[in-house]
Amino acid sequence: MKGSFRLLKVFDIDINIHITFLILPFLFLYHGLRGIFFILFVFLCVTLHELTHSVVAKRFGIVVKEITLLPIGGLASMSSFPKKPSHEFLISISGPLFNIVFAAVLYFPLLALIGRENLFSPSLATWPGTIAQGFWINLILAGFNLLPAFPMDGGRVLRSLLARKMDYRKATSIAVNIGHLFALVFGYLGLMHGHFILIFIAFFIYMAASAEEAQVDVRETIKTFKVSDVLSKEFMTLRSDISLSKVLELVFHSHQEDFPVVDGDNLTGFITRADIINNIHQHGTSKLVKDIMRRDFPTVKPDQLLTNVQKTMEEAELKALPVIKDGRVFGVITLEDISRVYSVMSRRR
Ligand SMILES: [Zn+2]
Repeated sequence: MKGSFRLLKVFDIDINIHITFLILPFLFLYHGLRGIFFILFVFLCVTLHELTHSVVAKRFGIVVKEITLLPIGGLASMSSFPKKPSHEFLISISGPLFNIVFAAVLYFPLLALIGRENLFSPSLATWPGTIAQGFWINLILAGFNLLPAFPMDGGRVLRSLLARKMDYRKATSIAVNIGHLFALVFGYLGLMHGHFILIFIAFFIYMAASAEEAQVDVRETIKTFKVSDVLSKEFMTLRSDISLSKVLELVFHSHQEDFPVVDGDNLTGFITRADIINNIHQHGTSKLVKDIMRRDFPTVKPDQLLTNVQKTMEEAELKALPVIKDGRVFGVITLEDISRVYSVMSRRR
């Protein structure tokens, strides 16, 4: 996710922290050590919440590669989408459930430690109050994340419940509308009471709901299409020892802009439109393909679904990928090929 930094790696999952988290230390700066303790505890609760999602997702064959921690929760980026509504339901509800169980487990020990009165009057002004605040934050995290609005878990829980009775796209659209409604209410309350953070959250929820709808629309529209359905019959490959001026000629004379680099029978590299443009602007056309080609990039197979390919492109931050069949280069698939299917098949507009 943009604007986030890697903090640590747990179970092969990168834990990133989003830059907006930096506002929290500022908010609690004047509470000193208690403020820092509280922030670290929130970190811990949000991280464990996200790891719970990851563990459940893994049971359904979905790999989580990174978790981004935001002040109002976290986001786990998954390798694929849940196959069934019931999977989405369990993955989504597990995070908030963790916070509720965690609070329940802490309840009696904390009662013994700081007493009932302190536990029910959370405040960062004293240590017992700070510990109580840590207890309540779990219930707040659970409650907030269960709001039936994307991108919160509750939005997904709602969609998965609706999707048992109707088409996934319809279910998403209803869940998105409810999310928009929540955003409008939050925005209104924020404006009325001058709560800047609430207005920010309202805006965030509104945008996320719209993004979810657009994403699901693309996914549902292209979901039955495979790479082989859209792959151009003709394509060119490059040898690694030719110069960029030669490549430029090919770009001008054809529609192809991304090229697999093949030496002998082997795929040795890949060079994209952006690579070509950047290098020509920086160094002119004198460099050779092998000087600028990528050596580390994913490849796809002709029978792979476009939805998976799109995901792979996103993760690799590439707009094109080489297609391999029986160990040989079979073509190049681009984001434009995928968009073409969408623009022809979409029911929207
Ligand atoms: Zn969650």
